[in-house]
Amino acid sequence: MSHLSLEVSLQREMQGASPIIVTSEGNTAGREVEERSQCIIQGLKRLPQCHFSTVQVSDRYLDSILQQIHHQEYLGFLAHWNRALVGEELLFEYPYVDQGIQPDTPLFAGVYDLSREGARTAIAAAQQVVKGASLSYALCRPPGHHAGPAWLGGYCFLNNAVAAVVTLQESGISPVGLIDIDFHFGNGSAAILASRPDVWFGSIHRSTILSYPYKEVQPASDRQTFIPFSHSPSSEEYLSAVDELIKKALDFGCGAMVVSVGYDIIINDPHGGWHLQPSIFEEIGHILAQASIPLCLVQEGGYLLTALDECAYKFGSGLLGCDQK
Ligand SMILES: [Zn+2]
Repeated sequence: MSHLSLEVSLQREMQGASPIIVTSEGNTAGREVEERSQCIIQGLKRLPQCHFSTVQVSDRYLDSILQQIHHQEYLGFLAHWNRALVGEELLFEYPYVDQGIQPDTPLFAGVYDLSREGARTAIAAAQQVVKGASLSYALCRPPGHHAGPAWLGGYCFLNNAVAAVVTLQESGISPVGLIDIDFHFGNGSAAILASRPDVWFGSIHRSTILSYPYKEVQPASDRQTFIPFSHSPSSEEYLSAVDELIKKALDFGCGAMVVSVGYDIIINDPHGGWHLQPSIFEEIGHILAQASIPLCLVQEGGYLLTALDECAYKFGSGLLGCDQK
């Protein structure tokens, strides 16, 4: 199926400077910055089939979705520190972490406001699918797939991809699939979806022993498929894993699919470690498009600023069925 257009949902602008999100290691390379989104937009703008719109989702609807994903107490904790921290203050100590791992991502002033805009963007992209788009893309930040029912970590505070899944479900689409192709395992998405019987979840990632969240993980049920790599996969190995996940999602009967997109699988990403080239995304896009079901792409990681433009351009080209060769 050749998709005619890609509807891109742009995050609402925040007041003042966009915060730079670091980890407790204080990493200078690979910080989570607003510039990431700008680079991705540049890549997508090279494709005339991309239509850009700024999101419009009410606070009321946003809250109704977030309350289905995260515990109330956790949302209250984020809301509290959102205002209690001021200026450059960071909070490194808190109890809301995934089992067996240490806090790695500090809270900052406005953390809840910014994270809510990310989730709002993902919801808006899902609503584009509900309205009939076959291809939509949420350019949200910070990423979300490490955020669990009541925990944050790895730059993630609210789970944007699951917010998109729930939005699709609310419109009556069932079952829904979530495929996570970020370099890192979406421990938050897997945990939240474990209790949702009508969602299929698949992930391709670097071994969770070798990379975040640095612990062993197991699928919660036969509705979850994990494909970890301990070595840097060849493009053939990687693409056949993508193919396998899509077949399983379609076998499950998914009527639409959310894709957690991470550009950190490519060579030289500061948080990565594999040797795949940006051009892999054209092939990934082709394979995803062949599923012939509506796709809602949600931005997760990808921190090599000089490559994000090309990754996004290749991905869009593959999804749209453009012949770039
Ligand atoms: Zn990642």
